[in-house]
Amino acid sequence: MTNFEVRQYDAAGRLGELTVPRAGVTVETPTILPVVNPHVQTVAPATLASEFGAEILITNSYILHGSDDLREPVLEQGLHDLLGFDGAIMTDSGSFQLAEYGDIDVTTEEILEFQYEIGSDIGTPVDIPTPPDVDRERATAELKTTQERLEHAATVDTGEMLVSAPVQGATYPDLRERAAADAVSTGLDVFPLGAVVPLMNEYRYADLADVVAACKRGLGEVGPVHLFGAGHPMMFAMAAALGCDLFDSAAYALYARDDRYLTVQGTELLSELTYFPCHCPVCTDHTPAELDAMDADTREELLARHNLHVTYGEIRTVKQAIRSGNLMELVDSRARGHPAMLDGYRALLDHAEQLERTDPVSKDAFFYTSNESARRLEVRRHQDRLERLPVEGEEVLLTEGSSSAQYDENWGVLPPFGPYPRELADTYPLTAETPDRTDRAAYEAAATGVRRLVELHPDVSFTLVHDDWPATALDRVPDSVRLRDLHARD
Ligand SMILES: [Zn+2]
Repeated sequence: MTNFEVRQYDAAGRLGELTVPRAGVTVETPTILPVVNPHVQTVAPATLASEFGAEILITNSYILHGSDDLREPVLEQGLHDLLGFDGAIMTDSGSFQLAEYGDIDVTTEEILEFQYEIGSDIGTPVDIPTPPDVDRERATAELKTTQERLEHAATVDTGEMLVSAPVQGATYPDLRERAAADAVSTGLDVFPLGAVVPLMNEYRYADLADVVAACKRGLGEVGPVHLFGAGHPMMFAMAAALGCDLFDSAAYALYARDDRYLTVQGTELLSELTYFPCHCPVCTDHTPAELDAMDADTREELLARHNLHVTYGEIRTVKQAIRSGNLMELVDSRARGHPAMLDGYRALLDHAEQLERTDPVSKDAFFYTSNESARRLEVRRHQDRLERLPVEGEEVLLTEGSSSAQYDENWGVLPPFGPYPRELADTYPLTAETPDRTDRAAYEAAATGVRRLVELHPDVSFTLVHDDWPATALDRVPDSVRLRDLHARD
């Protein structure tokens, strides 16, 4: 894959560069593609570029194809002129309309050629968006059609236009994984994960995490990966950590039409706000009451602008988090906005082993910010590393306190990581910042680490000096280990 390069990883999150040859631009990812409706532009594409820094947007070629008033102009002028946008333009194909209305009147070849003719930079074939929870037979049959169309799309001459290969498979992880591998085998360029909007609309973030993780297993590290229809900033951090590079959404405009106000924690109704919890120009210059009193069109535009500020602000926050190596801390913090996001975060941590593969071995800091932190990739990696660390003494002390000359060898113990050789104390992640009043999850994870070390060295005699660990943690420590409480008197 030559059109996408990863510059930096954090978990499976990637700072990358997508080269879009037809547009002559390179787009930094992760990023959002605002959905531009060719008929109704709440915020003009030129403004998206000049005020919000949009490098790429998405519009619907199926609407243009079927439009009496726009079809000829777009063929004549080209898409960039028609929309007044110099950056990269991706076009969707009508699959969404197919899902909504059950029928569309173009073939993959027709719509791809149309996308090429109007000057689209990234085109999309007509795939079959299989909704969540359908029976396996239907998901399999529809997947077969999608794959045939992708293979067909790969043979259509589309010049320098990149072509996307949507990944379907409903909520079946094995189908998603296989579909993703098949999509890669077509040699197409961009990989949208399709039909996830119903999951997001129903706040099924745990299912979403499982679907994305399954797709990523099939895709490997090719890219870019586009989470189709994902536009709520509350889930960008989580989706990025799972390895999504592109988001798109009409949410900024659709929500504004209904007087809904986006935040990184969720959605508020304008009528229920007394204060704006935001620093953007709209929220600095107006109060909710002032906005409420405006005419509907002005209010809609200002709300759309606020929604875009929050959206692009969160994209920058995610990018900086990847740069700084604290994306997981950001995911943790965003997970507090809604219980469904917490479910999503916990489901993401079920895939820690998968995310660990691309995670940098060393970062600046590990902040233990919640009991979920005990399940983070770094904890797993540290405990896997125990297999490669030698234990040379016969009598070994594992302690949260100071070393003792009575033992052949002294190791430190740090919840949630568990035992570590003293000489590693100043290396990541053992430099972690953990709270003094830590929680049971951290002690239990540390105890699991102790158990792994003990099981690796059955002939060694271990003593564990712990700082008042709860019984649920001590239960995990093998019976062969002598236990002492750090503050107990001998
Ligand atoms: Zn604002």
